[in-house]
Amino acid sequence: MSAKSIRFENVSKAFGKSRAVDNVSFTIQAGTLVTLLGPSGCGKTTTLRMIAGLEMTSSGHILIGDEDVTHVPASERDVSMVFQSYALFPHMNVLENVGYGLKVQGRSKKDTQDRAEAALETVGLAGFGERLPSELSGGQQQRVAVARALVLEPGVLLFDEPLSNLDARLRRHMREEIRELQQRLELTVVYVTHDQAEAMAVSDRIIVMNKAVIAQEGTPDELYEIPANSFVAGFMGDANQVHGTLLRIDERRGKLMLGATFTVLPHRGLSNGDVVVSIRPEALEIHALNSEIPENSFPATVKKSAYLGGAMEYTLQSDIGDLFAVSMDVHHRHLPGDAVRLTLQAKGVTAIPDH
Ligand code: ATP
Repeated sequence: MSAKSIRFENVSKAFGKSRAVDNVSFTIQAGTLVTLLGPSGCGKTTTLRMIAGLEMTSSGHILIGDEDVTHVPASERDVSMVFQSYALFPHMNVLENVGYGLKVQGRSKKDTQDRAEAALETVGLAGFGERLPSELSGGQQQRVAVARALVLEPGVLLFDEPLSNLDARLRRHMREEIRELQQRLELTVVYVTHDQAEAMAVSDRIIVMNKAVIAQEGTPDELYEIPANSFVAGFMGDANQVHGTLLRIDERRGKLMLGATFTVLPHRGLSNGDVVVSIRPEALEIHALNSEIPENSFPATVKKSAYLGGAMEYTLQSDIGDLFAVSMDVHHRHLPGDAVRLTLQAKGVTAIPDH
């Protein structure tokens, strides 16, 4: 199995008058797992289907490895896809399902059986070959679907919302399995999901899509810590979005005025003036008035508090707006009506353009 890179060069796809994908370019390195993430209708499935050759581009070029596959049909691309529905043949047993693609390729019976058995072993299903799909759990069916794609030793493996039919616990387990397999076999995997936590858990890099274009591309850390725009800030986890004023200090840093408080952060090329500020819930520190209060704090009143076992969630009223905060300190709780002071941690506060 030799993993291949993928390259999109100014790719668009129109259905009638509407553009599902609009002039999108990206590169996926061989041997990495990259997720296409975004809300329903943003174009991620169409992008995945264009990699597979199940949709043809309206314009632009697609390269897989060194080959321009823009006009190459699906059957001749070195790509396998695991579908949301698994699409297992109900009348074939597990071994026949896994070996089906090899049989179609004209491989010998012995070779097909040996490879199918090896693929089943890879996904932890050795000994399940004789069963029918209906005799398997959802997670096991999912593994059969993965084995069936793996057995073809594709240069690129695609997953279209692979876990959406599974319950929450199994989803977590299966996503870890997919990641482990991808790393062990050094596969190139492109994974589509609308679940931000799932994307962050499995990916080397994430391509966030919104309305047919790329909103931002980066590592999970980059997208969470330094979102490029309000959409990404809001989509990659919870974020308070408030208004502030930026004053550049030097080449790199800016002073950000937020009501009665300020913080110094990287200005990331933004000009002086109004900006939107994304504040992660864990970046707000809450101080009781009878405790030692650091400098540069600002006042707030607790509106709501909820105990979640491992953490507290607060809604706070302040001069810069209502703020949502999460604190791991469940021993010193603040109650609705309490006056408190807030400070901002450096991590988790980002200035983004005000539009
Ligand atoms: P979801 O998570 O709901 O599957 P998505 O991000 O995968 O959404 P796509 O399936 O890529 O989005 O669809 C993008 C846009 O293209 C949508 O507006 C959709 O209605 C449209 N679209 C997709 N396939 C077709 C088609 N075969 N014919 C017409 N329009 C289509």
